[in-house]
Amino acid sequence: MTSTEPDLPLLRIGGLTKRFGGFTALDNVSVDIRAGERFGLIGPNGSGKTTLINCISGAFRTEPGTVLFRGEDITPLPAHMRTRRGIARSFQIPRPFKSMTVVENLMVALDFATVAGGFVPAAHRRDTVMAILAQTGLTSKADLPTTGLSQVELRKMELARAMATHPKLLISDEAMAGLSSSEVDEVLDLLIKLAGEGITIIMIEHIMQAVMRFSQRVMCLDAGRIIALGAPDEVMANRRVQEAYLGT
Ligand code: ADP
Ligand code: MG
Repeated sequence: MTSTEPDLPLLRIGGLTKRFGGFTALDNVSVDIRAGERFGLIGPNGSGKTTLINCISGAFRTEPGTVLFRGEDITPLPAHMRTRRGIARSFQIPRPFKSMTVVENLMVALDFATVAGGFVPAAHRRDTVMAILAQTGLTSKADLPTTGLSQVELRKMELARAMATHPKLLISDEAMAGLSSSEVDEVLDLLIKLAGEGITIIMIEHIMQAVMRFSQRVMCLDAGRIIALGAPDEVMANRRVQEAYLGT
């Protein structure tokens, strides 16, 4: 395959398997994610969703399996090289640098993404970060320590930190867990807005209403295998998907 192939997906996962000792967390997972797609990833607890994200972002090595991003085989690349190629993820449990302000947290992410790439002059760093905070609705929180943020604001800051690396692919790992329904809508609106700006998004979520509203396609994992992939209503109506959720 070459990068001149017309229908090349943004991300192509091929035959991806991940074992922890004798336990197989992902079993021969293959899927293409199209550029600009809003892709929902569901599955019961322990089904391998976060493991798949770790394999895409480079936190885990795959054995075997390949990850192609924009036509390039990134399988051998470590996480920071993948970040610089345009892959960003937010964590299921927010991991702010607690002693820093919101702006400082984003600057760390900005610097991380630009060390090897475009140099951002010091005078422009704050402007760049403030633009991302405006985009994510956190302008008024810019100079607060992260300990002054509410749960929903912390979730948004996680997404803002991911945005500071200027991703082409953003992976959101349960950014809505534990939020009220109006807060879920806030985070969902933000993800839909970012997608509207051209960012491809993989959203892992347990809140089915959010998955249904967000996703153009949904993939369901169970015990490390794909059990359904397709339009949201088709996947939700799938007997194996319903059984997988009833089983938990
Ligand atoms: P999900 O995100 O779908 O809830 P995970 O991908 O976190 O599931 O986990 C899938 C399975 O792999 C679980 O059984 C989990 O215990 C196991 N697992 C995940 N990460 C590790 C690890 N670093 N070491 C050992 N087992 C792991
Ligand atoms: Mg998980």
